[in-house]
Amino acid sequence: MTSEFDLPCSACGGDLREATIESHELGLQVETEMPLLVAECRTCGERHYPEGTLATLRGHTSWES
Ligand SMILES: [Zn+2]
Repeated sequence: MTSEFDLPCSACGGDLREATIESHELGLQVETEMPLLVAECRTCGERHYPEGTLATLRGHTSWES
């Protein structure tokens, strides 16, 4: 199974590493204290959100965009 962590960064092609961030770091109104799993680029710091993380956000958040 291919996960976000197996893919290169879509911004710069760098390697992604697994990282967890607190929901409040996203600046979102997230009704969960659960740390969120993200794929963070080692090179440029771009964050990519795995499907499971997006599902969590969708369940707890109203995006401002
Ligand atoms: Zn990158």
